[in-house]
Amino acid sequence: ERAVEAGGGTCRYDETMHAAQLDRLSLEADLRRAIDAGDQIWVAYQPIVALPEGRLAGFEALVRWDHPARGKVPPGVFIPIAEVTGLIVPLGRLVLHRACHQMVRWTAMRGPDADPLFISVNLSARQLGDRDLLDTVAGALAESGVDPAQVKLELTESAAMSHAGETIGLLWQLKALGLRLSIDDFGTGYSSLSYLHRFPVDSLKVDQSFVAAMCRSTESRDMVRIIVDLAHLLKLEIIAEGIETAEDAKLLSDMACGFGQGYLFGAPLPPQEAAGWITAPGSAEREKSLT
Ligand code: C2E
Ligand code: MG
Ligand code: MG
Ligand code: MG
Repeated sequence: ERAVEAGGGTCRYDETMHAAQLDRLSLEADLRRAIDAGDQIWVAYQPIVALPEGRLAGFEALVRWDHPARGKVPPGVFIPIAEVTGLIVPLGRLVLHRACHQMVRWTAMRGPDADPLFISVNLSARQLGDRDLLDTVAGALAESGVDPAQVKLELTESAAMSHAGETIGLLWQLKALGLRLSIDDFGTGYSSLSYLHRFPVDSLKVDQSFVAAMCRSTESRDMVRIIVDLAHLLKLEIIAEGIETAEDAKLLSDMACGFGQGYLFGAPLPPQEAAGWITAPGSAEREKSLT
């Protein structure tokens, strides 16, 4: 204590640290209340399209938090807090339930003749470690009545690989519910190719950092090409995220990347606005009129 008091700089540093910790604690308390009440938390939906034509294939559900005093808190800020505190478990359950119900409503809006859409929901490592995960997922499927084949769970490469041995069994149990699995942010973690081969996953998502760098760097372009080829080899669907320019989209479709997601096609939207994708001519309607 004395040593700290003697050095003014150290003292100020400690005060700043203290303030940051208090701020984090208050954010954590607010998040806990927000999850309980449910009203500040909502789910945004970002379209995922088939390349090259841009036909709507599904949506990724992305959680949003409108804090009454702080405004919009970015997921990059509150998701890590939710992970450390375990709040990601009830938060993830909330998102999964809302996303499944939303998919049911949109499927009804599209009518029985339209191609089925999928809804993709993120799972973090902490959720994979939750004993109740299987029950939670089964509960959301049953309660909403969504066709499990329309639901995808995204787990990041690092979450999937961190306890790969134990995770494989859980992934097979999740698959047995009839849903699909996707590896998110692929290329940023350390995948063991032997595990990847044994994981019952259906798709890989190329991390947006590679896509962003693609037009500037041939190395990044080669990296994306290798990931796309790997997906083909493993007979997995491949989705590129973070597509912002027509040039990116062209490069990707030339590589035979099947699906894309990014601001070029559409930002994450509140459900009322995302519904425009479903009802607008250009999705199901135009396709029907062409055939
Ligand atoms: P992610 O799963 O990789 O999601 C993609 C992120 O890229 C989203 O950020 C999305 O808004 C953003 N994005 C989409 N298109 C573009 C683009 O063209 N350019 C750029 N620069 N970014 C784009 P967001 O919504 O801020 O979410 C960040 C991360 O937070 C997600 O990364 C995911 O890891 C996590 N997250 C979000 N919602 C949930 C959730 O419900 N549960 C869990 N466990 N994690 C979530
Ligand atoms: Mg994701
Ligand atoms: Mg991602
Ligand atoms: Mg990401």
